Amino acid sequence: MTKQEISRAQRETVNVLLEENRVFVPSDAFQQQAIIHDESIYAEAAKDREAFWGKWAGELDWFKKWDKVLDWQLPFAQWFVGGKLNASYNCLDRHLKKGLGNKTAIFWEGEPGETKRLTYNDIYCAVNKLANGLKGLGVIKGDRVAIYMPMIPETIFAMLACARIGAVHTVVFGGFSADSLKERIKDAQAKFLITADGGYRKGKVLALKETADQAVVECPTIEHVLVVRRTGQDVLMRQGRDLWYHELVDKAADYCEPEPMDAEDMLYILYTSGTTGKPKGIVHTTGGYLTGVAATTRWVFDIKPEDIFWCTADVGWVTGHSYIVYGPMAHAVTQVMYEGSPDYPQRDRFWKIVEKYKVTIFYTAPTAIRTFMRWGTQWPQGCNLSSLRLLGSVGEPINPEAWVWYHQHIGHGQCPIVDTWWQTETGSILISPIPGVTVLKPGSATKPLPGIEAVVLTQEGKIVEKGGGYLALKSPWPSMLRGIYGDNERYKKTYWSRWPGMYFPGDGAKIDADGYFWLLGRVDDIMLVAGHNISTMEVESALVDHPSVAESAVVGITDEIKGQAIAAFVILKEGHKPDSQADETLKGHVAKKIGAIARPQKIIFTAELPKTRSGKIMRRLLRDIAEGRALGDVTTLADTHVIEVLKEKYQEEA
Ligand code: ATP
Ligand code: MG
Repeated sequence: MTKQEISRAQRETVNVLLEENRVFVPSDAFQQQAIIHDESIYAEAAKDREAFWGKWAGELDWFKKWDKVLDWQLPFAQWFVGGKLNASYNCLDRHLKKGLGNKTAIFWEGEPGETKRLTYNDIYCAVNKLANGLKGLGVIKGDRVAIYMPMIPETIFAMLACARIGAVHTVVFGGFSADSLKERIKDAQAKFLITADGGYRKGKVLALKETADQAVVECPTIEHVLVVRRTGQDVLMRQGRDLWYHELVDKAADYCEPEPMDAEDMLYILYTSGTTGKPKGIVHTTGGYLTGVAATTRWVFDIKPEDIFWCTADVGWVTGHSYIVYGPMAHAVTQVMYEGSPDYPQRDRFWKIVEKYKVTIFYTAPTAIRTFMRWGTQWPQGCNLSSLRLLGSVGEPINPEAWVWYHQHIGHGQCPIVDTWWQTETGSILISPIPGVTVLKPGSATKPLPGIEAVVLTQEGKIVEKGGGYLALKSPWPSMLRGIYGDNERYKKTYWSRWPGMYFPGDGAKIDADGYFWLLGRVDDIMLVAGHNISTMEVESALVDHPSVAESAVVGITDEIKGQAIAAFVILKEGHKPDSQADETLKGHVAKKIGAIARPQKIIFTAELPKTRSGKIMRRLLRDIAEGRALGDVTTLADTHVIEVLKEKYQEEA
């Protein structure tokens, strides 16, 4: 369905009903100003995918042009074979050459309230010096450097300094425990660790260096630990091993020649967030990755020189890698970087930041949106959000209720929302609206981007024209993972063994009559109730659709008669009582929205849900609780206390 196919009359209203789906048509004004404003880009890509990607790769600066766009030896891809480039050169040097050195790159805001404005020149200087410092300590091309940092500019300097000298960074989210850090350093055999004394979160100081010390004792590969002074707290510096960042860069020379990297040289390893099990070290290389993130930054976020972009993700996740560091910086974007939590000192911190910096494009996660809904509209209402022109969502399916709330209360009923589906493995966004072109449906990530061949398959691998099944990708794309670090077998088995020649992301999806994709979450989370496939996502959406519900997580539990029955963990909004009447009302509401088949057998009211550090619900653990099993791997859980409380509660009610 294209914008042109929607009648004028329908366009007058923001939300109209179309085949039971609400649609939102971007305004003519938005379309006219958009970088991508007509849909010919899809046809162009479909006509000759390699030529199309070659054209977008050509937007980067290459030291040597590639000989061949793609070499595909299933499941191993090489993109832009023979090409040479450097990621830090593309994010910095080339902007300076165009006279953009004085452009603001980052408005940084620390949680306690201090601010910094950094220009592209400033970042260029910092990165060159750090690159020389690292070289002086013996870091060479191909070495792995672990980065365990808070959300401060030095984290970006560290990533780009590694890229400059050809070292492979592996960023570990600063909220991870010593064990999680240790596990990742060991797997990557990192030689070097960059950390900080501490960081601020919810008004408290995190002891990063102390945690890093606990990890590093058991990591014999680490030769040096470089420490940024952020909080000024006391830390132990081990003689010979530990060095202060500021002392190293003070002495370092101003210019470091960027290493000409092969397009297929490794840029980074990033461990997946760990919702499903043992983290996998996802490998990304240079040329294809940069092409993918740079192209999608323009298509999806429509970023122009005057925009103020804010992606709220932590740099420790792939979203931060692709849409704080490499994508936006490749385009000399001005962005906001915030160190802390959204409710410090008050629940309007994000909106205060939007107002203060006049943010125009805002990109966050459904878990945050649902939290804002729970906190109430008074927080955004108290701030001027009129600078916003485009909103984005990533990380989980966004339920229509949250979409509409986001649209109304943050996007003042005007901003298109780009619901972006992708993974650590995909490197860049693959399924998403192009806001100047796509008619939006709340809850749908809409369509595969140009050059991306996504399909929905049955278990047997047949293409589903309309209905539910498994998401799959039919062909390689430039920013795809090149493997799991050190484990080709696991790479083949996890992603390429389900159907011949198809990439399997592990997610379920539904395709509707207009060819729109509705992501249903992980296939492991899909329930089989009395012979029907029901996704946890659909039941959760139905629950959140009820005015009393703030958030919910649904799992399938073994049932002798139906095969599986549905158990729902529910967080009520402030002011609602978790009593037997609420229980009946909600069960009835789900039955009415989806059908009697989806009526939950059990509702467990709770105050919190177990989530990963990136904010995703860990249904795997809820299933363990509901089925009375020992809990699986809990290392990536944000708060282990939540699970203890739930366990007790579940047993009480069982
Ligand atoms: P692990 O693979 O270790 O279990 P993870 O899958 O949570 O962790 P990520 O790569 O950060 O790690 O997340 C990618 C997953 O997030 C996707 O496979 C999908 O399940 C979900 N996801 C991301 N964006 C969306 C979206 N817009 N709509 C629906 N689901 C999404
Ligand atoms: Mg995953």
